[in-house]
Amino acid sequence: MNVYSGTALQAIARDAQNHYPLECCGIIDSHGLIHEAENIAEKKTQQFRISGGWFQRQQREHGIAAIYHSHCDRLAFPSAADMNGLVLPELPYIVASVIHGVCKHIGIFKLITRGSKQVFEPTKWWENNAV
Ligand SMILES: [Zn+2]
Repeated sequence: MNVYSGTALQAIARDAQNHYPLECCGIIDSHGLIHEAENIAEKKTQQFRISGGWFQRQQREHGIAAIYHSHCDRLAFPSAADMNGLVLPELPYIVASVIHGVCKHIGIFKLITRGSKQVFEPTKWWENNAV
């Protein structure tokens, strides 16, 4: 199953635009469908947080293939806060960048160990040709 299908990324781009100027978040399930989560972070313009109970329910009901969230007026790179708040580090990590309300780019990353550090390595860039 390709979790990076254009359809799933298009849906994430729409979700990201709908929530702007707040960050959206959710998962791609094992069937390639997206499930939107409630962002329970305090500063939703700059951060996202998903409840542990929600993750467990998704894992049980559909399986989780990847985690996504959006950045508002920031690039599609994981931030230091993203690294600190990481759950399920084995999964692909998707960041959608929304600039002035338009999601043009999505980056897909994986966490790798380089020397003594863990870093996000980009595995794919997606450009939204619908905007
Ligand atoms: Zn982030």
